Amino acid sequence: MQKEYQDIQVPGRALYTKARQLLDLVYTKGVDTCGLFLAALNQVLPEAQGVGLSFSGCCSNLEEKKKYQGTSTQILLTQRPSLVSQLQGCIDGALKALVISGHFSSADCDDVRLPIHTPSQQARRFLDHVRSKGELAAKVVLQFIQQKQESGSQLNEDTVTPPKELFKYQKKLSSSVSAQSCFLSTYGGTSHMSLDDIYTEGQLELSHECVDVHGPLGVEDIVGTAGTMNKEADTVLVSGDAGSGKSTLLQRLHLLWARGAALQDFLLIFPFSCRRLNSEHRELSVQELLFQHCCWPDREQEEIFQFILDHPHLILFTFDGLDELKQSFSDEHRLCCPTQRAPVHILLFNLIQGSLMKGVRKVVTSRPEAVGPVLKKHLRKEAFLKGFSPSGIDYFVRKHHRDPTVAAKVLESLQTNTALLGLCHSPVLCWIVSQCYKELLGCGEGSPQTITDVYLMILQHFFQHQSSQSTLGIGWLQENLETVLHLGQLAFEGIATSCYIFTDRDLETCGVTEKDICMGFLIQSKDMSSTHSQRYEFLHVTLQCFFSGLYIVLSNDTDRSTIPKLFEPKGMREADLRSTCFSACLPSTYQQEQVLEGESTAVETLNLQITATFVSGLLSQRHQSLWIHCCPSAVIEKRAKQVVRCLSKGMQKHFKSIPQPVEGEKKSMHAMPGFVWLIKCIYEMQESRIAKDAMSKLEVDHLKLTYCKIGPVECTALAYVLQHLKNPVGLQLDNNSVGDVGVEQLLPCMHICNSLYLRNNNITDEGIRKLIAKGVQCDNFQKIALFNNQLTDACTQHFSHLLKTKQDFLSIRLGNNNITAEGAKQLAEGLKFNHSLQFLGLWGNEIGDAGAEALASALESSKSLVWLSLVGNGVGSAGACALANIIKNSTSLEELWLTENCITRTGVECLIQALKHNTHVKSIWLRNNYLSLEEVEEMAQRESRLVF
Ligand code: ADP
Repeated sequence: MQKEYQDIQVPGRALYTKARQLLDLVYTKGVDTCGLFLAALNQVLPEAQGVGLSFSGCCSNLEEKKKYQGTSTQILLTQRPSLVSQLQGCIDGALKALVISGHFSSADCDDVRLPIHTPSQQARRFLDHVRSKGELAAKVVLQFIQQKQESGSQLNEDTVTPPKELFKYQKKLSSSVSAQSCFLSTYGGTSHMSLDDIYTEGQLELSHECVDVHGPLGVEDIVGTAGTMNKEADTVLVSGDAGSGKSTLLQRLHLLWARGAALQDFLLIFPFSCRRLNSEHRELSVQELLFQHCCWPDREQEEIFQFILDHPHLILFTFDGLDELKQSFSDEHRLCCPTQRAPVHILLFNLIQGSLMKGVRKVVTSRPEAVGPVLKKHLRKEAFLKGFSPSGIDYFVRKHHRDPTVAAKVLESLQTNTALLGLCHSPVLCWIVSQCYKELLGCGEGSPQTITDVYLMILQHFFQHQSSQSTLGIGWLQENLETVLHLGQLAFEGIATSCYIFTDRDLETCGVTEKDICMGFLIQSKDMSSTHSQRYEFLHVTLQCFFSGLYIVLSNDTDRSTIPKLFEPKGMREADLRSTCFSACLPSTYQQEQVLEGESTAVETLNLQITATFVSGLLSQRHQSLWIHCCPSAVIEKRAKQVVRCLSKGMQKHFKSIPQPVEGEKKSMHAMPGFVWLIKCIYEMQESRIAKDAMSKLEVDHLKLTYCKIGPVECTALAYVLQHLKNPVGLQLDNNSVGDVGVEQLLPCMHICNSLYLRNNNITDEGIRKLIAKGVQCDNFQKIALFNNQLTDACTQHFSHLLKTKQDFLSIRLGNNNITAEGAKQLAEGLKFNHSLQFLGLWGNEIGDAGAEALASALESSKSLVWLSLVGNGVGSAGACALANIIKNSTSLEELWLTENCITRTGVECLIQALKHNTHVKSIWLRNNYLSLEEVEEMAQRESRLVF
C-alpha cells in the first residue's frame, strides 16, 4: 500500500531503521508475502549475496509449512494478546534475559523502555523487537515467560528493584493510610473505638452464578482470583446497601495493608473517596490525582510516578462510594495518557475501565442500584456485601460492650424482638442499637420495631449525651427543635442536590451553629490531601436521610408538593434546586444544567427513597405525640394523610401494571423496582388499616419477588403487609437473602401462602424447623421449594412431621442440599403416612441406594405421587430395582427422573419389567448412568418410555 511505503520511506531516517521496518512489515503480512519478498531480493541482490538467503517460511511444501507454524516467532504472533498481558510487570526481567543471551543491546533495551509508553505499549514494542531479532531471541522470551509461570511469581517480580525514594514514599503513604483508617468515624463523637476493637466480618459473597466458589469471602479474596468473570478487566466491585459496611470493609483493607498484614503483593495502595472527589473541581492528571489526593512524595515525584507506570501490578487503587459521585459512570470519553489533565470523574472512569493505568487493580464500592450495564462490562468481578450474619451480630455486640453482662442483656433483648434482630443485620443499625443499649434496655414493651424507631432512638441518645440532665423529659424534641431544623435543612438540601460534604458556608446558610455541631451528628470530613478548609458530613448517609425526613415533617418552609414529589423521586431535584445551591456541590454551570434537565441518578433516587421511608415512619400515628409543641397538629395530620395517599397511589400503579393472565394460567405479579420500598414504607407506618387497604386491591394468584434483595428486614415488612391479602397466593422469593431470621419474619403471612418458593436463600435446618412448626397450622399451605439452601438430614424430621400432619400437602422440593440416606429414611417415615404428596424433588443430594430403597418402600402404595426426581443422587441398580416397585403398583406416577446416577443394566431391566405392568408412567429419565451405547440403544427399543 502507498501509505505503508511512505511510512517506511520517511526522509532522513537511517537506512538500517528503514530496513528493519520493512522486514517487520513484510513479516506481518504472512508466509506468501515473505516468499515474494525473498524472490524480489534474489532478483535485486548480486548473486553472491542472494545465495546465502534461504527462508524456511518460503516453501510450497505443506509439511514444511506446518513446521513453520510452530516456530517461536510464530507463537509470538499468534499468542500476542496473552503475551502482552503476561509481560507487563516483568519486561525488565525479559530484557535482562535477552541481554544475557546476546540478542539485545542496551540500545534495544532503552528503545523498549521509553517512558512515554504505557506498560502494554512497552510489551508490544518489546515483542516487535524480539521478532525482528529472529527465532532464537523469540525462544529465549518464551522460555523466560514459561519459567515465570512455573514459579508463579508474576506479582512478586523478583527483578523489580524499586528506587530508594519509593520505599520512603511507601512508608509515608502507609502511615497516612493507617492514621486515616484505624478509627471508625461513627464512634468519633462519643467514645473512641479502634477498628481492631470492633471490626466484624460481614457476609461478602460472589454472585449466584459463581458456582465454583462457596462460603463467605475474606478481605484478601476481594483482589484474589475467586469469582473472576473477566480476566482482562482490572476493577473489582463490592456492592451493598447503605450501611452494609462497604466503607468499613475498605477501611479494614487499607489498615491491614498499611500494617503489612495483608495484600502485601501491592507496594502502594491509593485510597479515594468519591464523596470527597466531588469537591475537586480542577482538571488533574493521574499523577496529580494520586499525589495531591492521597500522599505527596517528598522527593523524586517523577521517578516514583514512573515506577507506578512501569509496575501497575504492584499498585492498588480503591474508590469508595462510586454511587456518590455526581456523574454516572460512562465509558464514552476515552483517555489513555497518564500525564494528560482531565476532570476528575473522567480520570476515574478511565481508570475503572482500564484505558488509563491498565494493570493497576482497582476496588470500587457502590450501592447495587447505581451500577449500570456499562460499568458491569468493565468489571473483573463483583462481590456483594450483605451485612452481618446472625453470629456476626452476636460477635459485634460482644465487642461493642466490654461488659459481658451488658452484651448478654442486649443480645437477649434482640432475641425477644426478632424484627429488631432482623434490622441488626445491617451494620449501621447494629451500631445504633448497640450505641443506644441503655434506651433499648429501658424501653420494655415499646422496644423499637422499625428503622424509624431505631433512628429516633439515636436522636434521643445524642441529645441525652449533650444534656446536663440525667434523663431527658417528654419534651426532649421540643428542647432541641432548633438543632433538628438546622441539621434537617442541611440534610434535606444536601439530599436534593446530592451533596454529602458541607462547607462552613453551607452550614451558615442553614443556620447550623457550633452547638448543633457539638451534638455529634456531623463529623469533620477526613481528607487525605488536607488542603481544603473545614468540611463536614453526617455520620452516615442514612442519618442525613433521617434528618432530611425530620425536616420534611417539621419544617414550615417545605411546600405542599414536597411529600408527593418525595414519593415520586424524579421531580424532586428540579423543584428544590432553585431554593439553594450548595457551594461545594454545584461548582459548574455544566452540572447545574445536567441537574435541571431532571436526570436524577440512581443513588439520588435511593436516598430520596430512604428519606421517604423515614417520613412514613415519622408521620405514623404512634409517633404523633412527639411532634406536639414542635409543629401544629393540623399540619402533621395533613402531611400524614398525604403520605397515606401517596402510598396507596404508588401501590395502585404497581397493581395496574399486572398483565391479564393468559387463559388457563394463574394471574401473576412480578414485583417491579420500588414495590418492596413501598411495602417498607407501609411497614414503617405500623398501621394495619393502611396495609389492609393496600392489599384489598391486589388480586393475584402468584407474587414473584425473585432477585429483589430481600433480607430479614424486607421479610418483616412483607409479612406485615401481605398478611392482609384477601386470597391465598404463591409467594416466590427465590434468589434473595432471606436466611433463618427472614424465615422467622415471614411466619405471620404463612397463612395466606399456598406455595412458598425459597430457592437459594441461605436457609438452614433451624429456619425449616420454625417454618414447618407454623406451616402445619396453615390450611392453605401446600407447596414448598427449597432448592440450593443449606439443609441437611436434620431438617427431614420436620418434613416428615409435615407429611404426617398435613394430608393435603402437594409438593416438596429439596434439590441441591446436603441430604443423605439418613435424611431420605426420615422423609420416608412421613411419606408412609401421607396420602396427598404429588411432587417430591431431591435432585443433587446424596441419598444413594439406601435412601432410594427407603423412599421406594414408603411410596410403593402411593396413590398421589405424580413426579419424583432423584437426579444426581448416587443411586445404583439396587435403588433402581427398589424404585421399580413403585412403578409396578402406582396408578398415579407419571414421571421418574433418575438422570446422572450410577444405574447399570440390571437396574434398567427391573424398570423395564415394572413398566410392563404400568400404562400410567409417561417417562423415566435415565441419561448419564452406567450404560454402554449398545445397551442404551437396545433398551430404548424395548421400552420407548425410557429416556436416555
Ligand atoms: P456503607 O459504606 O455500606 O454505607 P459503612 O461502612 O459506612 O457502610 O458502615 C456504617 C457503620 O456501620 C460504620 O460506621 C460502623 O459503625 C458500622 N460497621 C459497618 N461495617 C462494620 C464492620 N464490618 N464491623 C464493625 N462495624 C461496622
